[in-house]
Amino acid sequence: MEQYYSGMAKDKKAKILETKLLIYECEGTESEIKEWFKTINIAGVPLNNQELLNAVYSGPFVTLGKEEFSNSQNSNIQKWSAYIKGSANRQEFLECALDWVSKGNIGDYMSRHRFDKNINELKKYFDSVLDWVSSIFTDVESEMRGLEWGRLYEEHHKKAYNPAKVLAEVQKLYADPYVKNRKGVFEYILGGSIDTKLLDVRVFDEATKKSVYAAQTAKVKTKSKSNCPLCAIGHDANKSKIWSFSEMDADHVAAWSKGGATASKNCQMLCKTHNRAKGNR
Ligand SMILES: [Zn+2]
Repeated sequence: MEQYYSGMAKDKKAKILETKLLIYECEGTESEIKEWFKTINIAGVPLNNQELLNAVYSGPFVTLGKEEFSNSQNSNIQKWSAYIKGSANRQEFLECALDWVSKGNIGDYMSRHRFDKNINELKKYFDSVLDWVSSIFTDVESEMRGLEWGRLYEEHHKKAYNPAKVLAEVQKLYADPYVKNRKGVFEYILGGSIDTKLLDVRVFDEATKKSVYAAQTAKVKTKSKSNCPLCAIGHDANKSKIWSFSEMDADHVAAWSKGGATASKNCQMLCKTHNRAKGNR
């Protein structure tokens, strides 16, 4: 039931104007003021971290920052919401902008810029990050919201991407039933589609692993060869070693990234060392 003061009944206006407020004026160092806020923060809706920082570092910089990033009437909010989680009222866009420009050292940045009379750097950096994201990923997906775009911008903004190719790859990965973590799709593509850990590709189930382990082990039983096919072709002491099930990990014979399915005929058990060395090629 949001109402504007100007539209309220006279008696209600008067009630607000005549309400006596208990006001504490506290003096002290910044850390003492912070302590104060912690104490009074117990009642009502607690202030979040950014709200506390705004209070501690109050000044022209915070005022301008709030005007831009904490104004729910700002027409950009909807655009920003595609990439950033939270609400303007609770300072979450300001927090994100500060987090990006300060590389995670928000308090330090606010302290250094406390008496600045402009927020040019903050705004410019924030816009650079979002312009960059939206130029590479032309379709907005709900999983983009709340990702670490500031870090990704720092790590990848000097590389060149082809938005049409990127879009095709996003669509391919979104349609892939083996990709369990869609949030990882964007960083995966930015990194050159190498680090499949980001996608949390569905792995072989326990039953598949056990049956493949049993078959591999039975096959080498009389040959004094290792049940790890890579150890077996090696030249060290492990070439005839029979690893226990718990000493082995499942591996995609044809890598998932090259189209290998997560079916038992594409599963082989490798000793942990070899599995790690093979990685996600
Ligand atoms: Zn091995």
